[in-house]
Amino acid sequence: MKEVTIVGGGLAGLSLGIALRRARVPVILHEAGQYPRHRVCGEFINGAGEETLTRLGITDLFSGVPLHEETRWFLGGERIYGGRLERPALGVSRRRLDLDLATRFQELGGQLHTGSRQKEEVREGCVWTAGRKMERSSRWIGLKVHVRKLTDQRGLEMHLGRHGYAGLAPVEDGRVNVCGLFPNRRYGGRGLELLWNCLAENGLEDLAGRLRGGDPDTGSFLGVSAFSFGLQAGSGGLLTLGDAESMIPPFTGNGMSMAFEAAEIAVDPLRRYAGGTVCWMEVLRDIRGSLRKRFRRRLFTARVLHPLLLTKSGRFLLAGAARSGLLPFRTLSRILR
Ligand SMILES: Cc1cc2nc3c(=O)[nH]c(=O)nc-3n(C[C@H](O)[C@H](O)[C@H](O)COP(=O)(O)OP(=O)(O)OC[C@H]3O[C@@H](n4cnc5c(N)ncnc54)[C@H](O)[C@@H]3O)c2cc1C
Repeated sequence: MKEVTIVGGGLAGLSLGIALRRARVPVILHEAGQYPRHRVCGEFINGAGEETLTRLGITDLFSGVPLHEETRWFLGGERIYGGRLERPALGVSRRRLDLDLATRFQELGGQLHTGSRQKEEVREGCVWTAGRKMERSSRWIGLKVHVRKLTDQRGLEMHLGRHGYAGLAPVEDGRVNVCGLFPNRRYGGRGLELLWNCLAENGLEDLAGRLRGGDPDTGSFLGVSAFSFGLQAGSGGLLTLGDAESMIPPFTGNGMSMAFEAAEIAVDPLRRYAGGTVCWMEVLRDIRGSLRKRFRRRLFTARVLHPLLLTKSGRFLLAGAARSGLLPFRTLSRILR
């Protein structure tokens, strides 16, 4: 069998590697970092269905993680929406999930090289799952921290601020993951102080106070910038999956699901390539076509909705619709998964 090389050991790369190993395809995976490690992520998975996780062979890795059936949205501290999700969302830290996936990949005989940053190179048999493309001038900054002993925790929460938002999602071990997306400005402060300042300057000072009153785990604090949403410009002939292909705005909680679904889409064509029954160009065409078909509608919907969360008039509209029960939340969450 021909070998498949995967660059990037996040969710797309590791889950693809696992599924290919289950089909006995030889796989080498290069990951720039090490495990375990925290990642900037809302850490709730909205959408990845049982079928996808089963086909990838990773369902058992989610046993015992918190299941979120409800979500509550707040605008400037006022609750504007509360309702059930179409399908329960899974709450799991990336520190745990990525490590579990890496361990499973190796147990199945996959060759994992950590600390191995690769250069972008178009070549047959190579899949690029190295995440979002670096943008020199980014509009956004993403920050995350785990908070223990958070009193008054209300399940999956979304807090809309003036120009950004923050999500709260309980994960394992009684921790609550807090992840915010804010415009990239000079807020002042470093580490947790930066997060509190971002929240306060976006009108979420009450939330900042509540989080400070818990027990934030400073070791889990992380920040990222230099990214943009939508299609990521990769080299023409590169086979990209997950965030490396396109990045959906985080309020959907759907990026991780898309990484898994992309891996699911890629397994069969890559298995056929490894078995020598199709050529690489066919694999590229097949996977790209399927990705477009599967994700077009959610990427479009998220692109339209995202600015609404970030402008005064958009938030006013959303809040009005939510308060009067006109917000088609369930329909939207069905589209965005
Ligand atoms: C602020 C924010 C909040 C989010 N919240 C959520 C949420 O609540 N729910 C959700 O579902 N999604 C969320 N997402 C999106 C989610 O994190 C991503 O969609 C998901 O991680 C994509 O997985 P991936 O495998 O494609 O990429 P990644 O998880 O980014 O993995 C890419 C991997 O490639 C490695 N790598 C990079 N360059 C190289 C290289 N040159 N060589 C080798 N390795 C390399 C990296 O170290 C990394 O391990 C959020 C994103 C952001 C920015």
